[in-house]
Amino acid sequence: MRLKPLKLGCIADDFTGATDLANNLVRTGMRVLQTIGVPAQALEVEVDAVVVALKSRTCAADQAVQQSLQACGWLLAQGAPQIYFKYCSTFDSTPQGNIGPVIEALMAALDTDFTVATPAFPANQRTVFKGHLFVGDVLLSESGMQLHPLTPMTDSNLVRVLQAQCRKPVGLIDYATVAQGAQAIRQRMAQLRHQGLAVAVVDALCDTDLMQLGAALKDMPLITAASGVAIGVPQNFGLAPSDQASVLPPVQGYRAIVSGSCSRATLRQVQQFIASGGAGRALDPLQALGANPQDVVAEILAWAEPLLPQGAVLVYSSAPADAVSATQNALGASAAGVLIEHHLAAVARGLVALGVRQLVLAGGETAGACVQALGISQMQIGPQIDPGVPWCYAHSPQIGGAGLHLALKSGNFGSDEFFTRAFEFLQGARS
Ligand code: ADP
Repeated sequence: MRLKPLKLGCIADDFTGATDLANNLVRTGMRVLQTIGVPAQALEVEVDAVVVALKSRTCAADQAVQQSLQACGWLLAQGAPQIYFKYCSTFDSTPQGNIGPVIEALMAALDTDFTVATPAFPANQRTVFKGHLFVGDVLLSESGMQLHPLTPMTDSNLVRVLQAQCRKPVGLIDYATVAQGAQAIRQRMAQLRHQGLAVAVVDALCDTDLMQLGAALKDMPLITAASGVAIGVPQNFGLAPSDQASVLPPVQGYRAIVSGSCSRATLRQVQQFIASGGAGRALDPLQALGANPQDVVAEILAWAEPLLPQGAVLVYSSAPADAVSATQNALGASAAGVLIEHHLAAVARGLVALGVRQLVLAGGETAGACVQALGISQMQIGPQIDPGVPWCYAHSPQIGGAGLHLALKSGNFGSDEFFTRAFEFLQGARS
């Protein structure tokens, strides 16, 4: 099948950030496919945009540059006329990068001498004013991000932060201009470019600002931003919000949830699912440690098999903080994480082999491990269940290339009834 060229090519510096961007593009009218890494094979379906999910936020800057350039090359080869580099809405980076070096490398690859940078995402409480990033009511540097273990953000002035990472000059398009709309933003970009600036941080306080900025970016080869600006991009291609963009293939098969998240929201969701009569089975890491992993997984699958025809089953290692500490003290935090992810990924694979085709995965790392175990490399993005969590559709080589629906929920996302609601929502969604 000959597919139409892409309208937009996106590069995201982490996995859940990629889904967040894809979700915003779908909500505003684009059909989107997310790939895990740079694809080795052709696209599976015709879409308007592809989001390539990298893991380049905290690796060495030269590796981040190399991965991003490879993604950019692939997206250009699929016909993308515009590239969107997506980073975190708290601008997570170190003084060495990786945001600045990746922006400059992409500018060179796209042969452009000017671009913008803004992590503004007002719907998610991220606003930029006079170049300063606010998280809710406080500056970035007072938001808790100053204590982040990998990317402490101690300066809220993004012009200064980005200039420290860039060789070329960085400037600002401030709110006085943004408030005047797309034409004024375009004029200011031309002025700054004329003055020799290469990157302009852009203020934005509300979705209207992002829509105006989006319109002003129509002919730019490169956009760099968090996922917020994405809401203003589809309009440039004559696209408007529509249910059509999020239509996925028809729903089939059994339902299951695999949860390795110990975040508070997930603990409430597990509790709620079981309290409302759902079938749940805990994986106890300390018990699993002494046993043969294959036996542990086989036992769980033997429990699940007769229950699947009756409704969704839940397999979880999710546990409150004291239990998690006990496990971590016994095994070490990292070894405990790996052991559990390994078991849950094998369970997910086993459940899919038993006929599960609607699978909710709770926990960022957990979801990553399960998706990898299922051999999934491309995901079509569907309708949003709760903010930031869409249903997706993917083919898995583990089941001979057949398709399944997946919802990848990061720990703190979703309402208390998420595990039940997600399936009801999918049943009701258009396909
Ligand atoms: P979240 O999105 O909530 O952070 P993740 O899946 O990303 O969830 O991270 C949870 C981590 O905790 C995973 O590495 C998982 O294997 C580990 N884990 C899950 N259950 C337990 C447990 N009972 N004890 C210790 N670690 C656990």
